[in-house]
Amino acid sequence: MKILLIIADGLGDRPFGPLDGKTPLEAASKPNLNALAREGMIGLIDPILPGIIPGSDTSHLNYLGYDPFKYYTGRGPFEAMGTGLKLKGGDVAFRANFATVDEKGVVTDRRAGRIREGTSDLARPLNMRIEDVEVLFREGTEHRAALVLRGEGITTDVSDNDPHAEGLKPREIVATNENGKKTARILNEFYRLSLEILKAQPLNSKRRAEGMKEANAILYRGGGLVPTLPNFNERYSLKAGYVAAVALVSGICRLVGLKDFSPRGVTGSTDTDVKAKFAAAVEALKEVDFVLVNVKGTDIAGHDGNGIGKKEFIERIDRALGETVMKIRDDIVICFTGDHSTPASAKEHTSDPVPILLRYHGCRRDGVGEFDEINAKDGYLRLKGSDLMNVLLSSANRAEKYGA
Ligand SMILES: [Zn+2]
Repeated sequence: MKILLIIADGLGDRPFGPLDGKTPLEAASKPNLNALAREGMIGLIDPILPGIIPGSDTSHLNYLGYDPFKYYTGRGPFEAMGTGLKLKGGDVAFRANFATVDEKGVVTDRRAGRIREGTSDLARPLNMRIEDVEVLFREGTEHRAALVLRGEGITTDVSDNDPHAEGLKPREIVATNENGKKTARILNEFYRLSLEILKAQPLNSKRRAEGMKEANAILYRGGGLVPTLPNFNERYSLKAGYVAAVALVSGICRLVGLKDFSPRGVTGSTDTDVKAKFAAAVEALKEVDFVLVNVKGTDIAGHDGNGIGKKEFIERIDRALGETVMKIRDDIVICFTGDHSTPASAKEHTSDPVPILLRYHGCRRDGVGEFDEINAKDGYLRLKGSDLMNVLLSSANRAEKYGA
């Protein structure tokens, strides 16, 4: 059987006052998720380990079978991959911002007025070669961007230039040890060149004329080495794909060798077309054996403290399931869960275990027909994130016997 893993980002939650003390999942009208629960089994999953607060990146890595304690090298590499840059093991990637500096070089806005338009035009000329090092630069969402260095002797042994506050000058990059000297030299030269290049961009002349904040400097931080990860398809002897809009998740999927089936126009937000994502996944399952779908709206609403919006987004997920996935449910293994909890009351990730649902034709049923955090205690499943691939593969009759 083929496998569909749906990850509602930040799904897990806690009792929320404005929902009469119910969790958003508990309060949501979700006939399709409940039908899947009734036909299958539910429970709780610790995305990494009990008490560890997962990031979306570390959690997705762990779910896919890549121990984050071994492979995770910081947000820089993962976000950089998500911008669409094709990175290689050994590259060093930084998280970057377009920022505004005044004529004295002092940072007046770390996010360049949260610039939205035209950043790809600003980013393009920042791709260059300094000495024998290739500099890759790509815009992300809003003011965010990725800066990548590729070449002999490039390391992460350098400081950041981001002063993390306005009213200060960007910091001089220094090597934190001997190995970082070349990288520091390249980064300082890049900063100097980027000021000249950005100042000359027509978009900045226009912003200057209109009294808007110029995107005339680049701040970067959080350098990390791009890890070399074993290919997912070879590792599990299957063909795999993904549907995701958010950079961090698509970057990870791409890094491990999942094929992109994301439809155009989907966003990593609450306004995304959930049905288009699920329809794309159903279509992808004709070609590949495993599809990961990430929908981000649950996490965004959680971070906003918007428990009611989270409940409504879950209801949209449920309706979209009814129009797509439910129609092929007897042919596939369906797993629905989250990558961590983002309780609306906490507005950030927490280590609370996340509800999980597993359903395939002929599977055991645990008799629980309501899918939520509270009823999860009555279900069969108690998993750690590192168990997930084993469970999915054996559910799909794709696992090998351990022993004779
Ligand atoms: Zn997440």
